[in-house]
Amino acid sequence: MATIDHARITLSVLMLVLPLAASCSSAPTHGRASDPYPLKRCPVSGRTLGENAVVREIDGREVRFCCEDCPDRFESAKAELFAKIDAELTAAQLPDYPTDECIVTGAPMTLDRKDVSINIIYRNRLVRVCCEDCRAQFESAPEHYLSMLDEARRAASAVE
Ligand SMILES: [Zn+2]
Ligand SMILES: [Zn+2]
Repeated sequence: MATIDHARITLSVLMLVLPLAASCSSAPTHGRASDPYPLKRCPVSGRTLGENAVVREIDGREVRFCCEDCPDRFESAKAELFAKIDAELTAAQLPDYPTDECIVTGAPMTLDRKDVSINIIYRNRLVRVCCEDCRAQFESAPEHYLSMLDEARRAASAVE
């Protein structure tokens, strides 16, 4: 019976220690909103980002700045500057985008040979859909569709 008691004690000690160990060993989640960060310039000043870029999370998105002054300036013109960042992110990722199909339905993103694609920037990643309904569908389960996008990227690089 002594061994059972010992096992119980060991278990209860483990249960006390484990949550602590888990919280200590978990990597910091801050600054992981996009991976890797695709922009090379501060959106406010236009200066090239160096090693000591100031990393902020704004509206759930990672944004990097050249100095401590720029985040406040960004906040004061947020809509405009996010639009600028989105345009840059789209231009940077479009050439490597792995599929011509809507990520939600798998349909081609042309209608009568006209391009009807909608470019969405989600956590700094480009996601493309064929219509507003699909945009809503994507936004209801973004992680699901991002994993499909990862799959499409793996398939595309396997073909090359
Ligand atoms: Zn700056
Ligand atoms: Zn669609």
